[in-house]
Amino acid sequence: MRIVDIRATTVSVPLEAPLRHSNGEHWGRFVRTIVEVITDEGLIGLGEMGGGGESAELQFQGLKQYLVGHDPFDLEALRFKICNPTASLYNNRTQLMAAIEFACLDIIGQSLGIPVHKFLGGKLRDEVAFASYLFFRYSSDDGLYPEVRTIGQLVDHTRDLKERYGFRTHKLKAGVFHPEYELEAYQELARAFPQDSLRIDPNACWSVEQSIWFARRIEGIRNDYLEDPTWGLNGLRRVGEKTRIPLATNTVVVNFEQLAQNVLHPAVDVILLDTTFWGGMRACIKAAAVCETFQLGAAVHSSGELGIQLSTMLHLGAVLPNLTFAIDAHYHHLRDDILVGGKMKMERGKMKVPDGPGLGITLDRDKLAHYAALYQREGSYPYDRDSRRPGWYPLLPNDRWADANQSE
Ligand SMILES: [Mg+2]
Repeated sequence: MRIVDIRATTVSVPLEAPLRHSNGEHWGRFVRTIVEVITDEGLIGLGEMGGGGESAELQFQGLKQYLVGHDPFDLEALRFKICNPTASLYNNRTQLMAAIEFACLDIIGQSLGIPVHKFLGGKLRDEVAFASYLFFRYSSDDGLYPEVRTIGQLVDHTRDLKERYGFRTHKLKAGVFHPEYELEAYQELARAFPQDSLRIDPNACWSVEQSIWFARRIEGIRNDYLEDPTWGLNGLRRVGEKTRIPLATNTVVVNFEQLAQNVLHPAVDVILLDTTFWGGMRACIKAAAVCETFQLGAAVHSSGELGIQLSTMLHLGAVLPNLTFAIDAHYHHLRDDILVGGKMKMERGKMKVPDGPGLGITLDRDKLAHYAALYQREGSYPYDRDSRRPGWYPLLPNDRWADANQSE
């Protein structure tokens, strides 16, 4: 079987409401690139990458000179063709590689008539558990979804998500307001949901000293871990030396070089694997095996997915023996998806692992066209800017907090 064409389409899919984080905001939508790899046997594999626009589409078009004629089964050759580690110094293609790998795995599964998890080790579980992923947010423009700013609003929002989806784990995206306010919010969540486990992630925007201060005050809470309180392996190591809560990262251990450093000079306890950032599902499985060997914790990060990437997270979650944590997803904050059947279902805080051939999902071409047209109208947005705070940008460590007393 040979690859004969690659198509890339940028889409913009609305979120329920704009989500706030330490660097800015998701401006009420996710922009993603949907990738289709087409073979001479008529099979089409699906991939997905964060961001999009003309430049991303051109990058995928540029890969055709490398990949037309390539056999989708030859996954290791694929890696060296487009992602050779020394050539990558000049052309960072890790995320492109991931999208193409998803599509090739989808093709292989379709070709063999088996789900991807079946040839990535076989599934160890039929469902994968998710964390609620709580954000402070602005109210939606259409007024359907209220702001989440006060602690009462945050608890109500958590209760609403728990009722709708059954989450037993709550992750709070922090780093928006002053750490003292976010400590109060986190402690209130622990009081309101005493049976559930919690984790908090300020996207690395606190100083080492603030991180230690925060960690010591949440020691009595049922924490999964404290995620990226500060930046850098050295900063995290210093925090870890002075706290009893496991530390997790999706920012400073995102490749094998960094994973090796973290084994040789331990700084972080739990590694959040991301099928995009690591360059594919197979890279995540390899990384999880290193974590298993050295008894580091493994969990799954969300970089803001639609259903194609979500399915890669489900197949990954199904085959990792050492996945002991609920995985992260932004998915439930979306209003729609580009798959046939609409959004995949979440019940009791879990999603079923797809069992159809390949990734087990089908692209809805009407939805693809609809959300591609929406992207053409709305364009991209800057992830590291806040639409309601013009001119603002954060420092590291940050001290330019949003005002929790003021609706923006
Ligand atoms: Mg994170």
